[in-house]
Amino acid sequence: MSSENSDLVKNEIGMKNLSLGSKNESLTIPKLETSTHHQNPNLISYLSNYSSLDSPSNLNTLTVNFPPIQQRPRLSDKHYRSKESRRNSTIIEGVKQKRKEHSNTNTQKLTDNQQQKTLDSVNGYDSNEGSDNEDDISPRNKEQVNKNKFTDFCVRNIEHAEHGRKEIEIAEQEMPGLMSLRRRAEADKPLMGAKISGCTHITAQTAVLIETLIRLGAEVRWSACNIYSTQNEVAAALAQENIPIFSWTNETDEEFWWCISKALNMNGSSDWSPNMILDDGGDLTYYCQKHTPNIFNSLKGVVEESVTGIHRLYQLSRTNALTIPAMNVNDSVTKTKFDNLYLCKESVIDSLKRCTDAMLGGKQVVVCGYGEVGKGCCQSLKAVGCVIYVTEIDPICALQACMDGFKVVRLEEVIKSVDIIITATGNKGVITFEHAEKLKTGAILCNMGHSNTEIDVASLHQSDIIWEDVRLNVQHLTFRSGKRIVLIAEGRIMNLCCSSVPSFIISITASTQALGLIDLFHAPPGRYKNDVYLLPKKMDEYVASLHLPAFDAHLTELNDEQCQFLGINKSGPFKPNYYRY
Ligand code: NAD
Repeated sequence: MSSENSDLVKNEIGMKNLSLGSKNESLTIPKLETSTHHQNPNLISYLSNYSSLDSPSNLNTLTVNFPPIQQRPRLSDKHYRSKESRRNSTIIEGVKQKRKEHSNTNTQKLTDNQQQKTLDSVNGYDSNEGSDNEDDISPRNKEQVNKNKFTDFCVRNIEHAEHGRKEIEIAEQEMPGLMSLRRRAEADKPLMGAKISGCTHITAQTAVLIETLIRLGAEVRWSACNIYSTQNEVAAALAQENIPIFSWTNETDEEFWWCISKALNMNGSSDWSPNMILDDGGDLTYYCQKHTPNIFNSLKGVVEESVTGIHRLYQLSRTNALTIPAMNVNDSVTKTKFDNLYLCKESVIDSLKRCTDAMLGGKQVVVCGYGEVGKGCCQSLKAVGCVIYVTEIDPICALQACMDGFKVVRLEEVIKSVDIIITATGNKGVITFEHAEKLKTGAILCNMGHSNTEIDVASLHQSDIIWEDVRLNVQHLTFRSGKRIVLIAEGRIMNLCCSSVPSFIISITASTQALGLIDLFHAPPGRYKNDVYLLPKKMDEYVASLHLPAFDAHLTELNDEQCQFLGINKSGPFKPNYYRY
């Protein structure tokens, strides 16, 4: 597109310079003008090709063709285990081993294959479709070539690309922020020149992020941050678009690191080398430090999403070992306030029902911890008619729970009568053997917190408790007395193990990641030092505004007098950094 045309498009879609750094250093990011009607024919033609969820004002002038939603069987959730649960797998493996020994004599155990087959038959999806023993052959030992004769990728089965593309299209419909970013910034290509090595879950939603980065001008190479969570057909769809992607389900640890090295193009045939990193869990960053530290000389920065990865980056920063600027996406307002609260609100009931088919109305539930996650869980459980108790250590959160209409109790007061126990504290040992022992028969025990420390699962592996695999992620624990309780996902984070994650929420986080990359890529020397930064608040606000049109929400604009009165700018930021929302 010529620069003239580009300017035209820029004006039509209302792009303005938003200063993110000092006054002379401004980065062009698209400014939302929700009230503008876009009538430039070129714009319309390129937008309409890619419009699935446009702002309502655009709908007046654009023909929007929503790809039909197909009733598609869900992919197996079996592998969607959080990164941290993989990290904790050594602990779990020890526990499993103990259980295995025990189960040889005491339990009826389904093999993994049997469990998978049961799930597949429930879902009507054959994960091994088109292959006899696909999982047995490492993709590294297969010829990898797509229909364009492109070979720089490694996926389970390129033949499944078409199916993966449909999955990506479904995700696109629920990811308005990323799609809007594409449309609004595609002409400007703010990531032109960016070479991004990425390491994230490979799902339909992250595929939308990857393809957005490419549409904004970036060159990318990608691998998975989790050995289980890759949607193979999505990886195939990306490979079919000539995107160098290295990822499949059930990677061995050795394959996992090999894929990361490929995402960095180590020993590659070209001289491509990344100048940005997008990481989820810190493994790619860690790999660079360990195997190719020189790469940091040419890196403009790293954007990190996970708690674990951020923790590592802060550790490096404290010891002056961080040699590039890092953007902490995990603690941006648009992550914590939406991911923790709304994600859990949307998925706690889905998870419980998938696992247990339980009727929830009228059930007595105790939620341990009334932070963001606990609040989200309580909101939706209340909506379906549960009787809710909350436990808290913090008087402020306890008071919030009281004023939201929940009874704040000590666990001991209700443990014998409750039907469901949900931990959401981020703490350890919240539910112990002594608690479990007091539960009534049929009680369901589960965790919504990040790690499997909240329920002391190891103590439940006592020799006189019989473990029985009932369904995928569901186990019966029978005590000597004959009492039997239900444990979900062995105490791991329930919704990530047993349910799907709303694409809309991922759109918010992914938009933050994309803007973090744009910001770091354009930052003039000196703006960011070798430290860990939060995304500027203006960016947070921008990410939120990208998602408002999906609700046909109309923001009120401040007038000059009001701006002066409040001492803020018309275009934000609207709140000081300490504001808690
Ligand atoms: P938070 O800090 O806002 O809330 C945790 C609450 O638990 C706090 O109010 C704290 O006072 C309370 N608490 C701590 N120990 C307790 C105890 N022994 N008994 C009772 N209450 C106790 O954190 P959050 O944002 O709500 O996150 C909670 C956990 O969920 C974290 O591990 C987080 O990483 C995880 N998380 C899960 C998801 C998900 O999808 N399931 C999403 C985001 C975060």
